[in-house]
Amino acid sequence: MASLPKRITKSSLKSFLDSFDNVLTDCDGVLWTGDDVIGKANTTLNHLQKLGKKVFLVTNNSTKSREDYVLKCEKLGFEIPSKEHIVSSGYVLAEYLRQQNFKKKVYVVGTPGMCKELENVGVSCFHVGGEQTEGNVLNMIADIKLDPEVGAVAVGFDPHFCFPKIMRAGSYLNNPECLFLATNTDERFPVANGPLVFPGTGCLVRCVETVAERPPIIMGKPSPKMFSVISEKNNLLPSRTLMIGDRSNTDILFGKNCGLHTLVVLSGVTSMSDLETWAASTDTEKHRLLADYYLEEIGDLLSLLNA
Ligand code: PLP
Ligand code: CA
Repeated sequence: MASLPKRITKSSLKSFLDSFDNVLTDCDGVLWTGDDVIGKANTTLNHLQKLGKKVFLVTNNSTKSREDYVLKCEKLGFEIPSKEHIVSSGYVLAEYLRQQNFKKKVYVVGTPGMCKELENVGVSCFHVGGEQTEGNVLNMIADIKLDPEVGAVAVGFDPHFCFPKIMRAGSYLNNPECLFLATNTDERFPVANGPLVFPGTGCLVRCVETVAERPPIIMGKPSPKMFSVISEKNNLLPSRTLMIGDRSNTDILFGKNCGLHTLVVLSGVTSMSDLETWAASTDTEKHRLLADYYLEEIGDLLSLLNA
């Protein structure tokens, strides 16, 4: 049995706020759902910055470039100083290749936004848009031409994921020298109140991993790589940094892996009953999913400040 996260209250608010200088926050499920702001997330994040906290957005969503996220933030009323305050799994993947001084080409199973991040750091890449998947398999095989310049396969979210892409990725990865990178392994993404389950990037990664017969290097949360990219550039002390998230197996585990304070909000994936199940479990790995603090949603911080 482990302790449940502590709810932040009016009386604990000051010591909570004094315990950190930097805030890393997940996006989908904490700040917004799709294109809708969650409660007062925007005014809350803006207020935290007025209190002197440095804020960084940390998302596993690789579909957009950081420039796209700046525009989204402007549209939704989040005052984010620049794209340097946005870290996506696609950006971390590009930074990883830049640091390796990677000079070959990347085959991207992903989106134009993911390619933009690679191009921003001078790595050449290509992705294939909607592909014809129907018809004769032999014709399909004949249509796939391998580029000898490819030295890495990068898998992120791709709404046009299909059989030819698996075949192309598997064929490049058959060369043991070819790097295998993945943005994230989120199992599924929330869909507003419907019976549908939205398959996450993890499903695509597993598929390529199966044909490759080897695992990828994973960039996104819960990997500490995301924190290294931010902390190296901004000199962040883990002990003075708070991670806010809605998905415990990515966000909260990421915070714990990096030695950060952690706050889970119940406006996305993780529910109170998940927290209770993990706290009651005898499996200590489940205890690592338990954040230090919890709130229903991020805007509750502003309500407590104004109470
Ligand atoms: N990747 C994709 C394609 C998504 O649609 C989402 C959420 O909707 C995520 C990742 C998770 O993003 P975040 O880490 O901001 O919750
Ligand atoms: Ca999330």
